[in-house]
Amino acid sequence: MKIPLVDLAAQYQTIKPEIDDAIQRVLQRSSFILGEEVESFETEFAAYCGSSYCIGVASGSAALHLALLASGIGPGDEVITTPFTFAATAEAIVHCGAKPVFVDVRGDDANIDPAKIEQAITPRTKAIVPVHLYGKPAEMDRIHEIALRYKLKVVEDAAQAHGALYRGKPCGTMSEAACFSFYPSKNLGAFGDGGAVITNDPEIAKKVRMSRDHGRQGKYLHSETGFGERLDGLQAAVLRVKLRHLDSWNRTRRSHADRYQRLLLRCRVVLPDEGRDLAAVYHLFVVRSRERDALQEHMHRRDVATGIHYPVPLHMQPAFANLGYRKGDFPEAEKAAERVLSLPMYPELRDSQLVIVAKAVAEFEGSRT
Ligand SMILES: *Cc1c(COP(=O)(O)O)cnc(C)c1O
Repeated sequence: MKIPLVDLAAQYQTIKPEIDDAIQRVLQRSSFILGEEVESFETEFAAYCGSSYCIGVASGSAALHLALLASGIGPGDEVITTPFTFAATAEAIVHCGAKPVFVDVRGDDANIDPAKIEQAITPRTKAIVPVHLYGKPAEMDRIHEIALRYKLKVVEDAAQAHGALYRGKPCGTMSEAACFSFYPSKNLGAFGDGGAVITNDPEIAKKVRMSRDHGRQGKYLHSETGFGERLDGLQAAVLRVKLRHLDSWNRTRRSHADRYQRLLLRCRVVLPDEGRDLAAVYHLFVVRSRERDALQEHMHRRDVATGIHYPVPLHMQPAFANLGYRKGDFPEAEKAAERVLSLPMYPELRDSQLVIVAKAVAEFEGSRT
């Protein structure tokens, strides 16, 4: 039996009656775009995060784009972010007409390195977009301290960090705004695309609410040119069901991570470090190996699916070539891209499967020593 990287079908089976009910409710009402389910989800997700406002949007990418626009990012601005993330983080900056300025990541967890942020600040810098990579919070205290000193906005990319805690506080509530993705494989995943912006700032909330729906104020009054980036009722209904299970799923992910740590203790692969005073939610469980490609090939032969998040840092992607970066500019991001390997991680993994994965890693290393 193959062990997949994630198993969405297994998750559906565990909550099938609740999900089927929720979907039926939407079909009966036929309220497909925005509507009651979306409003209820927004209220519930804001409460879950401990934020004043939540605005449901069409994807995590839309959440980033609209949150940055609402925070006043526009042409001529520079926005600091990490080169070791999904393309959407930097794309959102480009779509505002602003310029992404990359700052290298830390060698241990591949989150943005706060010690390197200040040297990237110029008079044009307007914001920092940290990413809580793999569900581990970025070093927010130091990022906020810098942001405060230079009067920069902070918009968190929390697309992989639903429910993660930074010094006891939920990720996303400490900044101007935070952006979540409900892409199906995320810790809180819809049955299609979905996203949300959370914020405590009523102005940002108002702007995102308008811009996601064509700048509309009433049915026929368009106060500004906006976008068609609304969350739909079916996704909201699914998300409401899944939100009730999120904490329990995250706890199980953490306990799987713990089990991997113990099973892989004697292996040479470098294990993720949770850091102090954080609760990571292990969107991915990522190890590092100098023989990553051979290890991945070995895992594949043992029917264990693995992933690489991410094989090419953004400063080396053709899409961002015009920013003028070259290979060697961000050595830690480049090293991470060569060494990281994501092992299967999802709440429904069984202990026997964790053991098989760990054995496959040990077997690979044994065969090499
Ligand atoms: C998934 C993800 C996004 C984009 O979310 P979509 O819902 O796929 O648009 C943005 N940033 C990060 C770090 C992500 O993992």
